[in-house]
Amino acid sequence: MPDIKENLKEIRERISKAALRASRDPQSVRLVAVSKKIDLPRIQEAILAGQLIFGENYMQEAREKIKGGGERAQWHFIGHIQSKKAKDAATLFDMVHTVDRLKLARALDQYAGREYRVLPVLVQVNVGEEEQKEGVLPERAEELLQSMLDLPSLRVKGLMTMPPFMANAEEVRPYFRRLREMAEYFAGKGYFGDQEGFELSMGMSGDFEVAVEEGATLVRVGTALFGARPPGRQ
Ligand SMILES: *Cc1c(COP(=O)(O)O)cnc(C)c1O
Repeated sequence: MPDIKENLKEIRERISKAALRASRDPQSVRLVAVSKKIDLPRIQEAILAGQLIFGENYMQEAREKIKGGGERAQWHFIGHIQSKKAKDAATLFDMVHTVDRLKLARALDQYAGREYRVLPVLVQVNVGEEEQKEGVLPERAEELLQSMLDLPSLRVKGLMTMPPFMANAEEVRPYFRRLREMAEYFAGKGYFGDQEGFELSMGMSGDFEVAVEEGATLVRVGTALFGARPPGRQ
């Protein structure tokens, strides 16, 4: 069994060092512990070790964990959302990272509004322009952000991406940089509200340090924290 407390400490140190290399405040980076397929006792171990935010990909699994004792933590949804699951996404989570189409944005807005919630969301961008990947294409992102300004119960906080898979983390750097440059441009146009900062959700176990160097504010780390997940759908 991996030592979650030890792994957490090491990941935090690596985040801090990467932030300092880029002259960033290490406090400006938050760790999202990706807990898909990890059971509640392991999650509670991480909570006890000081981990605050957990990321989940599958709605049913996430609902069971949140209702089953995970209420003390913050939960971010980081997986693909079918429109029929929008209600759960809008009501169970503290942030949704994966808004990539207007139909979904409208559904989330509607369900959040019914509960008098304002839901923080990120727009997922397919920076690698890969066929199979989720996320709005870079050239369609502004149109989506523009339309989302009309949705009163969503607050768009920034962008998220899953870059193309690369064996070497350094090769992912241009994609992270591209996401940051897009976010800077959109922030300048006021799409993220009038707050000066914005969120960039990028970087996983294999490349989170590069992501932090390129401006990530939310890194999504699973395997490096909890160990390898059981086989099957990832
Ligand atoms: C599974 C997953 C992660 C974590 O991946 P690891 O390589 O285990 O750190 C991050 N982001 C998303 C969207 C995921 O689905």
